[in-house]
Amino acid sequence: MRIGTGYDLHKLVEDRALILGGVKIPYEKGLLGHSDADVLIHAIIDSLLGAMGEKDIGTHFPDTDESFKNISSALLLQKTMQIMQNNGYKIVNVDSNIICQKPKLMPYIGKMKEKLAPLLNIDESALSIKAKTNEGVDAIGLGEAIAAQCVCLIEKV
Ligand code: ZN
Repeated sequence: MRIGTGYDLHKLVEDRALILGGVKIPYEKGLLGHSDADVLIHAIIDSLLGAMGEKDIGTHFPDTDESFKNISSALLLQKTMQIMQNNGYKIVNVDSNIICQKPKLMPYIGKMKEKLAPLLNIDESALSIKAKTNEGVDAIGLGEAIAAQCVCLIEKV
């Protein structure tokens, strides 16, 4: 078994859709990035790559590559799962946090799990997504950014 950790943060700006865990969330702002800036999926991808001893998300999916511009991060996750398969690994479980002051994410956590568990080839019971605020302090607490953390456990097939 191998363990991996991932962290990501994106700025919240106007005129962008807010996509978290592959789910579009109604809000006045969205995350800025080269892809759809899905901070949760990026943290999950980095944890999986880390667990495999692969390089990071920026190496595999560079933001200088035009083919990744505005790409759905769910597609990047699918590509990552292909790398896992090629390396002979499968996921045991994933535990993640989204740190977000606004909007309230609780109503969307179920949808995120529905979307991500099949992509990760795991049961929803093996996928944990927790949402917390930053108690109104620092850039995240002031609503200027959203961050995500992830830990995963993988094993040889
Ligand atoms: Zn990112």
